[in-house]
Amino acid sequence: MKTIYNFINGHSEPSVSDRVGAVFNPATGEQTAVVQLSTADETAQAIEIASRAFPAWSLTSPLKRARIMARFKELVEQNADELAHIISREHGKILSDAKGELTRGLEVVEFATGIPHLLKGEHSMNVGSGVDSWSQMMPLGVCAGVVPFNFPVMVPMWMFPVALACGNTFVLKPSEKVPGAMMRLAELLKEAGLPDGVFNIVNGDREVADVLLTHPKVEAISFVGSTPVAEHIYNTGCKHGKRVQALGGAKNHMVIMPDADMEAAANALMGAAYGAAGERCMAISVAVPVGEGTAEKLLSALMPKIDALKVGPGIVEGPENDMGALISEQHLAKVTGYINTGVNEGAELLIDGRGLTVEGHEGGHFTGPSLFDRVTPEMTVYKEEIFGPVLSVCRVDSFKDAVELINNHEYGNGTALFTRDGKAAREFAQHIQVGMVGVNVPVPVPMAFHSFGGWKKSLFGPLHMHGPDSVRFYTRMKMVTTRWTEHDKAESVFTMPTMG
Ligand code: NAD
Repeated sequence: MKTIYNFINGHSEPSVSDRVGAVFNPATGEQTAVVQLSTADETAQAIEIASRAFPAWSLTSPLKRARIMARFKELVEQNADELAHIISREHGKILSDAKGELTRGLEVVEFATGIPHLLKGEHSMNVGSGVDSWSQMMPLGVCAGVVPFNFPVMVPMWMFPVALACGNTFVLKPSEKVPGAMMRLAELLKEAGLPDGVFNIVNGDREVADVLLTHPKVEAISFVGSTPVAEHIYNTGCKHGKRVQALGGAKNHMVIMPDADMEAAANALMGAAYGAAGERCMAISVAVPVGEGTAEKLLSALMPKIDALKVGPGIVEGPENDMGALISEQHLAKVTGYINTGVNEGAELLIDGRGLTVEGHEGGHFTGPSLFDRVTPEMTVYKEEIFGPVLSVCRVDSFKDAVELINNHEYGNGTALFTRDGKAAREFAQHIQVGMVGVNVPVPVPMAFHSFGGWKKSLFGPLHMHGPDSVRFYTRMKMVTTRWTEHDKAESVFTMPTMG
């Protein structure tokens, strides 16, 4: 069986650890690889290597760094098919979705190729006589990333392309459930011309993350994962003097107004709720129809589509399935447990996806799409993130009630409104307490040249990922003030310096 090692100093390197994790193919339930769970010492060594690579890399011209990113983008495109197969095999998502994740990741690489422009500071001539002043965006040093299972390459690509382009070096800890594709990306970074030691991967679990969070040579931590871990990462990283951005879980609502195009809204909900088997932080997990009539129309449009949804392996010959398997047997049990709880707490289970078996893939971690109606805010299936293909319909009487419902939820990652009413749309965008808002757009993931991040329990830290915030996160500003004038007349001044 294949063993997945680390990628340190430009090479795949076995770990000395005797602890290992199992990587599965979710479509069959079979183990496909072993991943080494690295030790604390190995993590510290990787940080040292990244730290030694920093001086030369930070002095490499931004244009040269940008060209390496451009070459990396070309190489990823050339190897997209192989990468998508690794993602789909380890994660379970359908192949076209794996390719979509690569495309969204590559958009951040494309953004990073603009780094010479993005790093330009501000310059003021003659702020005093013979005195000029400017700002410089300086890299931080060693930056680290800890990432979740659900986007094996896209989420890491929210982080390292901009971090590296800004002149930092990087240590990444992938999810131990899906480590394969990032190892291939590390090889492609090297092939693109990235010097050894600038980008390193340490595979493992909490033991690795804990060193990244506390090691004095790590300057910044980017994290994406569940909220309890995000909060722990934020608190521990800050306590150890690091810059931290930690993105957490979500419960995303889509409000459907009576005037919405019901067919368009139902189609949008299908992809947003059941795409990637609901294992997306921007998945819509709550539909909020405004008014009983809207709820009935929405359900009539939605239910036949759910019944027609094809569930099966992510990689198939011929026509693709719509939805693949869940990541693990444990996660399948957790999602099933939530559906059981929903039934026990009185939600109406209109479509039951539990107990699905896919012929020829009997060991796969499959569940069908599930649909709850008449879900109320005190129910567990409403309050907690399920991270599976379970959509809850939560009926409200008015637009105001919909806004209040969303604003009272502890998460605030994404949300959407479907309507033909411009005034309602404007009011929604203005008053909703959520970080990413769509109007007639169900999954409003910002493009790479804007920044991605939620509010409330969905993000800890002030700066979002990719786009302008990422350049702010991965650099610190230095202000330089110079005087080039006759010095023989200079006298000591003991009052607060002023210019003019
Ligand atoms: P997770 O929190 O279990 O794990 C994320 C990463 O943290 C993994 O690399 C894991 O090894 C590590 N980790 C786990 N426990 C840790 C601990 N105690 N200390 C340090 N590190 C630890 O999340 P997951 O199950 O891999 O991913 C799913 C979650 O990620 C969902 O909650 C989803 O909403 C969230 N997510 C959020 C976003 C976003 O943008 N907000 C994007 C993708 C996923």
